[in-house]
Amino acid sequence: MKQILLLLSLVFYFAGYAQYDSSLDQSEKVNFLQIFAEVSILPKSKTVRGEVSFQFESLEQLDSIFIDAKDMDFSEVLLNGKKVAYTNDRSRIWIKTAFSSKKEYLLQLKYVAQPKQTMYFINWNAPKDPNLSKQVWTQGQGKNTSHWLPSFDDMTEKVIFNLTFNFVKGYQVIANGELIRESAVNDSIVQWEFKMEKPMSSYLVAVAAGNYSKKTIESNTNVPIELYFEPKDSLKVEPTYRYSKQIFDYFEKEIEVAYPWKNYKQIPVQDFLYSGMENTGTTIFADSFVIDSTAFIDQNYVFVNAHELAHQWFGNMITETNGKHHWLHEGFATYYAWLAEKELFGEDYFYWKLYESAEQLKELSDSGKGESLLNPKASSLTYYQKGAWALHILKRLIGEDNFKQSVKNYLLKNAYSNVTKEDFLREVEETSKMDLSAWQKDWLQQSAFQGTEALASLKRSGFITNYMELAPLRETPVSVKKEYLAKALDFPVNEYIGQEAVFQLSGDSSQESIALYKKAFETNNTLVRQAIAVSIEEIPAQLKADFIELLEDESYITKENTLLKLWMQFPEETELYLSKTQGIQGFQNKNVRLLWLVISLVSPEIASEEKEKYFNELSGYTSASLPFGLRQNAFGYLFQINAFTDQNLLDLMEGAQHHNSRFRSYCNSLLDRLLKEEEYRVKYVALSNTMEKPDLEFITKRLQN
Ligand SMILES: [Zn+2]
Repeated sequence: MKQILLLLSLVFYFAGYAQYDSSLDQSEKVNFLQIFAEVSILPKSKTVRGEVSFQFESLEQLDSIFIDAKDMDFSEVLLNGKKVAYTNDRSRIWIKTAFSSKKEYLLQLKYVAQPKQTMYFINWNAPKDPNLSKQVWTQGQGKNTSHWLPSFDDMTEKVIFNLTFNFVKGYQVIANGELIRESAVNDSIVQWEFKMEKPMSSYLVAVAAGNYSKKTIESNTNVPIELYFEPKDSLKVEPTYRYSKQIFDYFEKEIEVAYPWKNYKQIPVQDFLYSGMENTGTTIFADSFVIDSTAFIDQNYVFVNAHELAHQWFGNMITETNGKHHWLHEGFATYYAWLAEKELFGEDYFYWKLYESAEQLKELSDSGKGESLLNPKASSLTYYQKGAWALHILKRLIGEDNFKQSVKNYLLKNAYSNVTKEDFLREVEETSKMDLSAWQKDWLQQSAFQGTEALASLKRSGFITNYMELAPLRETPVSVKKEYLAKALDFPVNEYIGQEAVFQLSGDSSQESIALYKKAFETNNTLVRQAIAVSIEEIPAQLKADFIELLEDESYITKENTLLKLWMQFPEETELYLSKTQGIQGFQNKNVRLLWLVISLVSPEIASEEKEKYFNELSGYTSASLPFGLRQNAFGYLFQINAFTDQNLLDLMEGAQHHNSRFRSYCNSLLDRLLKEEEYRVKYVALSNTMEKPDLEFITKRLQN
């Protein structure tokens, strides 16, 4: 049986491989030059209607060509202006006719689609509320742009895209390229025309639409950088986009290759699938990074900002041939983002990032799950962080100048085309004249992480050496190591070493510990003080006053942890803590506000009419039109106080079918948990009487389990 299974899996493997190859074949037989698309987006019905023209040249005699098009219907298909035979297999449209060698063609398609993925419609059918974000946005990588625009799933097919959109009046539309025209079609529709000059792969096509304003800045080389925001977030623009110009200018200087596109736009969107996506010239990112100054220390956009911008060279200007070379995108983008952060925040910060990622990679490797960088199914940790480490070690090996020269040659020689790791290694070997076989074996091929080599490299930092003297003392009693801990908290404190010292006090309530906590408070370093709030198990009465002061610190993590611990330990003064934190929201998930509401709800001092108001507020945050991070936080608290309303239960069901997979799986686990209890089963059965088809089917199935 086992052998039959093995044989079967081999057959599938080769079948899959052959299919993959046939698409590669087309990019060698047909040269697609330009795409002109006019796309009408109808957000209420989640529909797109479009007309697309493909300019291409057949490089040999062919009897058919294809365009990827998922679940699309075509009303007109013309080749060089004439009707042509085609088949639509719901994944591709095949044009079946004799194509001559070395001849140019123009293919025109009229289509309609209701994309199931890749294009997402936020809040277009929600109740009217000026505070709600109404948006449309796309995510092409891993999701296939061909769900809303006939295009190419194969990354090696690079084409010049000229995109025109028709969209509801009163919103901003942002897409790849230069906006060359914005004009009214009629009273309710505006047309937006974008133009590109250089080719790109289809997965990098993007469009976002919403109620956006923008702030435009310029790089030192006069590239316009457009920073988009919703008007309600106008006070958050500076902290959100802090250092954008510095990062841009740093990359152009460090890489020594000019930014490869005409402009750069960044757009925050609600309920995004990931942190950010580097669509060509048009980064789309999660609006949980839209922050105020207080949140900056805990949850800023700087790394993602730098990472997505680095991709504009590494990924967009030069693109992997296939997933086997994915570290050429993610390893480079991660390493250059770390370099940008080093420029902004200094060497210690850089080495701390290297150290943290080495720890994670070593843990993965020690548990036998280490992955080669060349494994096409490797995890993000491998592609991103091991990839960055491989480059860091390579730079040490060949020297800074050789490294820079190799990267520059690699980019310039392969500009606007596709690459494999050989293209990069060739440049490194030519520039450095060094034998790279040992590095290749250790860092590209080996599945184990080279911990010893990484450690030797980390020890070049005096800060890491100091940190590593302290870290092994975690199990040592405080009474034995107190001098070391005191030294670690000396002025001026290094925040990572200071935090480590505080973490090592956790669980110890001796007088020696209290004296050290006092010293940690007095460092006045926000992160060291945050470490106290996060890690202390029981607040000694002598430190209560210092704790109350932590409520004023400029960190929402500190505020949240402090409020919770003070309330749990000294409930008699709850009203004082509540008054000190009244009105504070916190991150996008309102971490401080929700805790505040819950404490108010369970405190006997609060009047019942106030409680009703607070409960309605908390309960309202599960609404399907709000960002999923906030909804998730609200569901969590409602579960803890066991107080779901019917509307919360309906919102949870909606969440269990949400497009964001992290949120969806959270809601599904919670729903499963609730359905184990008779009380909630009865409620869902009652609710199902008023439900219509997709929801009714969904809950009926779940109730049967
Ligand atoms: Zn990336």
